[in-house]
Amino acid sequence: MSNARPGAPGATRACPHCREVILESAGICPACRKFLRFDEASADEVPVAALTPLSIEGSIRHPADGEPWEYTVVVSIRNDRGEETARKLIGVGALSANEQRTFTLSVEMVDASDKSSPRRH
Ligand SMILES: [Zn+2]
Repeated sequence: MSNARPGAPGATRACPHCREVILESAGICPACRKFLRFDEASADEVPVAALTPLSIEGSIRHPADGEPWEYTVVVSIRNDRGEETARKLIGVGALSANEQRTFTLSVEMVDASDKSSPRRH
């Protein structure tokens, strides 16, 4: 979780729907995809288009003659000094013969200076 103070770039809060830690500036929860803002000031706001400077997708198909294997999906974030600042277990499961899973990682970014007015809570 970020230590940024409320209103600063990187400030976080808990989604009221799913309790995931998300950006305070988010209008839609990236985890549960529910809308977050109801105040009048944001009703007129045009959603800021997010850039996706990193997006990776890959699939694994287990061989047709393979015994079941288990998988673990972990995502981590490191800062420019190589220190891990976040590490999250995303999911676990198993693949039986000829089953496939597709894994997608995307990093969305928005201009943090693009806030038209300071938000109040
Ligand atoms: Zn949510």
